[in-house]
Amino acid sequence: MSLIVQKYGGSSVADAESIKRVAKRIVETRKAGNDVVVVVSAMGDTTDELFDLALSVSPLPSGRELDMLLTAGERISMALLAMAIKSLGQEARSYTGSQAGLMTDAKHGSARIVDVNPARVRAALDAGAIAIVAGFQGFNRGTGDITTLGRGGSDTTAVALAAALDADVCEIYTDVDGVFTADPRVVPTARKIDTITSEEMLELAAAGAKVLYIRAVEYARRHGVTLHVRSSFNNNEGTLVVNPENGEIVEEAIIAGVAADLSEAKITVVGVPDVPGKAAQIFTIVASTEANIDMIVQNVSTAATGLADISFTLPKLDGAKVIQTLEAKKSEVGFDSLQYDDQIGKLALVGAGMRTNAGVSAKLFTALFDAGINIEMISTSEIRISVVTRADTLGEAVRVVHSAFDLDGEEEAKVHGGTGR
Ligand code: ADP
Ligand code: ASP
Ligand code: MG
Repeated sequence: MSLIVQKYGGSSVADAESIKRVAKRIVETRKAGNDVVVVVSAMGDTTDELFDLALSVSPLPSGRELDMLLTAGERISMALLAMAIKSLGQEARSYTGSQAGLMTDAKHGSARIVDVNPARVRAALDAGAIAIVAGFQGFNRGTGDITTLGRGGSDTTAVALAAALDADVCEIYTDVDGVFTADPRVVPTARKIDTITSEEMLELAAAGAKVLYIRAVEYARRHGVTLHVRSSFNNNEGTLVVNPENGEIVEEAIIAGVAADLSEAKITVVGVPDVPGKAAQIFTIVASTEANIDMIVQNVSTAATGLADISFTLPKLDGAKVIQTLEAKKSEVGFDSLQYDDQIGKLALVGAGMRTNAGVSAKLFTALFDAGINIEMISTSEIRISVVTRADTLGEAVRVVHSAFDLDGEEEAKVHGGTGR
């Protein structure tokens, strides 16, 4: 008997019909002789809708209340799913994150899991029931409050439970057939990847491929959880995320895929005195806002002025806060002005083969040049090259880079559901 953790994303449980379809699939897995733990997301775009609702009553909703509100989405789907399974004649019990033993730190909106004690989930399995757990949420012992793990966090709930229960596999069910060489909504000719290393998957997830949440990939890698990303709309094999260092076999490809991200903005600090310590001063101020900055570029100062410009990218959500904080320290740092640009797009090309293959950047830049797309910033890691372009050219940029690296497949990639929101 195997223990399988299955996670169903919002697009797989968007309405009553979908919930019944998923319930059937879960019951089949149980009847095949497996213990089944299910993690479920909020129905369709419920989380976004609740978020919009919060913003319509308050410009800056309190983190505690926002978490209270957003976790309601997963409570609805877990209860409905348990009912649907019971009506198929199988025992099922639903649990909130806190009932399932997911303990987190106290950081509302992006809490980290600190401890998992799924005693009640195990008891349900021992009693022959299917356990349904609300994704994306936890509980902080110190404050006694409900927390959320950040957008896309149900993936992490599933992986954390799989690790704590020593599950045989953690299946992530979604609205596409697996991890593709690019988002199939942007590149219809994207190819499904059969196996991908967790290292590459981490880079793709970090660069905006939301098919898997970055923290879930990290957690799975650290705890040796096998991840299988697949569609809840058919029985096709999906994508296995593997660890070659554990002797797991992976297909050899120089480039794994291309990711795109429209959620970032760029801040330029204009006219920074070109003396030691200024970058330290600026980024200490930025760090105090807890914004996660990504790319940084400093231009050369001209000898005549002795001033330089420093640009960096950060999530749009943090933009206003960072601008405000920097502006308040303008005279202390001694810069001229700030520029805020939220019309940027970020493209990342990811592949472990970059380590040993020359000419990857040249090919990337040439493909963009041939398409008339201007590059505004560049950064690289061992297995990734990222560039910033104008937001309205990002889709085209992804398609031309995808083609230039011969990633196009023979048939059109299918998107089975979801709104892409
Ligand atoms: P769920 O509701 O199941 O959590 P998400 O919307 O979070 O689904 O993630 C699935 C979506 O991720 C797909 O519909 C697709 O548009 C997007 N996506 C982005 N990059 C990729 C990629 N490289 N491979 C597959 N899907 C991707
Ligand atoms: N419902 C949450 C969200 O939309 C969590 C998840 O789906 O993973 O972000
Ligand atoms: Mg998701």
